[in-house]
Amino acid sequence: MSTVEERLNHINQSIRRACERSGRKPEEVTLIAVTKSVGPERAREVLDAGIVDLGENRKEGLDEKQSALGDAARWHFIGSLQSRKVKDVVDRIDMLHSLDRGSLAAEIQKRAGRPVDCFVQVNVSGEQSKAGLSPEETEPFIRSLADHDKIRIAGLMTMAPNADDEQLIRSTFRGLRELRDRIAGLGLTHAPCTELSMGMSNDFGIAVEEGATFVRIGTALVGYESGERP
Ligand SMILES: *Cc1c(COP(=O)(O)O)cnc(C)c1O
Repeated sequence: MSTVEERLNHINQSIRRACERSGRKPEEVTLIAVTKSVGPERAREVLDAGIVDLGENRKEGLDEKQSALGDAARWHFIGSLQSRKVKDVVDRIDMLHSLDRGSLAAEIQKRAGRPVDCFVQVNVSGEQSKAGLSPEETEPFIRSLADHDKIRIAGLMTMAPNADDEQLIRSTFRGLRELRDRIAGLGLTHAPCTELSMGMSNDFGIAVEEGATFVRIGTALVGYESGERP
């Protein structure tokens, strides 16, 4: 079994290589360690290895890790967020990666004590099982948030299909980047939309080549603990 630190070195090397292949700088890519499948001890190891950004996909996981680790981390909420949980979560996270509907935006607007950096989740591949807006719905949705002063659209997020088809994965990430470029070009004050949250354990190299600025990596970095499989 390798340590978190060894795995992190390996991942960082893969990110550097993907940057070299695509003419990017490694500093443009932030690694979010997804700790949803492990306990606070393993999350602590991640911080000790020098990672600052942690991702959780449930309120309960966030509660558990935050009470153990507190201010030591920057917190990313990466899972679907039920509107009734917004009030318990919104002021405790730095970025929300899963804004996918108007009712959620309205609840954030009502409950947030300060502006929140959000990613709009887009279902680029169009799979039935995936959350997110269609690419066509994304710009009108973002425009509709102009009067929500508690929401700042930092960028777009997607998940690639669970497939071995590299071209399919790549075209998904590329589609998100093109959409991001178009929306960033609108010059909307509430939506700078400069960031791209894409890439997980199995596909982050492709995501970095296609322009990811945040990769969300769980199992390849922290593994999972028995009884807490994702
Ligand atoms: C679990 C999860 C990840 C990390 O997945 P791994 O395959 O373990 O790297 C990334 N993004 C989201 C939205 C997730 O739910």
